[in-house]
Amino acid sequence: MELGFKPEMVDAKNTSRTCPMCGKLGRPNKHVFKCRKCGFQADRHLVAAWNIATRLPMCRPLPLAAKALNEPLEIKVKGEG
Ligand SMILES: [Zn+2]
Repeated sequence: MELGFKPEMVDAKNTSRTCPMCGKLGRPNKHVFKCRKCGFQADRHLVAAWNIATRLPMCRPLPLAAKALNEPLEIKVKGEG
């Protein structure tokens, strides 16, 4: 901060409890977060850091945004049958 670095302040509420994949609010079991909706599983600190990163405007271009995986998963093969 003395050198001119401006820290970005982010509301850390629920960052360790929200699934970075589908946005579902979950409950970490000790150190592991496991989403009951989509099955995503990771260390809860990683999940928290991931969620905080997605809230920063400077990180928006990264493919980290919640629900980013929904579109590819909804693609269905047509023309069969
Ligand atoms: Zn999920």
